[in-house]
Amino acid sequence: MLCFSFCWLLALCGCTLANIQIPEEYLAAIRQDRADDQSAGEYNYDKQGDDWTGTCATGSKQSPINLNLDESKIVAIPRLCFYHYDQALQTPLVITNNGHTANMVIPPTRGGQRAGINGGLLPGDFEVQSVHFHWGSKNSKGSEHSIGNRRYDVEMHIVHKNVKYDTMGEATLHPDGLAVLGVMLRSTYILTFQNGLDKIFNQLPKIEQYSSNATITGTLTVGQLLGGIITDQFFTYNGSLTTPDCAEAVTWTVFSAVINYSGRQIAKLWKLKDSREKPLVNNYRKIQEINGRDVYFRAL
Ligand SMILES: [Zn+2]
Repeated sequence: MLCFSFCWLLALCGCTLANIQIPEEYLAAIRQDRADDQSAGEYNYDKQGDDWTGTCATGSKQSPINLNLDESKIVAIPRLCFYHYDQALQTPLVITNNGHTANMVIPPTRGGQRAGINGGLLPGDFEVQSVHFHWGSKNSKGSEHSIGNRRYDVEMHIVHKNVKYDTMGEATLHPDGLAVLGVMLRSTYILTFQNGLDKIFNQLPKIEQYSSNATITGTLTVGQLLGGIITDQFFTYNGSLTTPDCAEAVTWTVFSAVINYSGRQIAKLWKLKDSREKPLVNNYRKIQEINGRDVYFRAL
């Protein structure tokens, strides 16, 4: 029966993945994630979000922003704590081309725990939900935040939900609902192996078509996605989702340390297609006004 629902989900009948057992709870979470994404309506990156409406147009605490050390408050902030970030996740994992990004809903660990974070300026405990990416193209860089007016090649977002809310939909209605970790990737000419990222990027050729999925097996922890960067230095501020409906529900933590990653792996992102069968490139929103918000920097 799992195969049936899996095939339905993946629109892959003839199901070569028939023997892969996906727990029903994980399938339900993937379907809910797709529904949440689609509830915002159709949108694209033709104008880097300038034509998005609602809170995206009227909000005053929008993301991304330029992060400037000179304009940040350098204050004593607790370090960020990661729990179950070193525990292997249930497998298989499913990665999806949802027309806006390559997205992976993150299931519980093999021990049944949810990886999560607290500390920093986070208003509570947050458990991980999903990871996705923003990128540029052959000729342009595509991080969403910039640091000192510098854009990086790729920005990874690890999305977490405040444990006090039951669903993502509910969490987006509250300013303390979500916590997103932003991690910059810098393209390198030399081959750079990244245990965690490689597991995702090696599957990208299988999800070039809109609405396609691929599975990841083997051992992956959420922590491996951080590529061993130092997590003690980061910018943190209150902002929004960077996709419609741009809900102002996010405590952002953007690390100043950058993951160096093979240009050959990053180039795989540029081959993804959106729902119009156009290349899914430059899927980043343009920089938003700070509007007097405090941006904090945690120094070592
Ligand atoms: Zn994002």
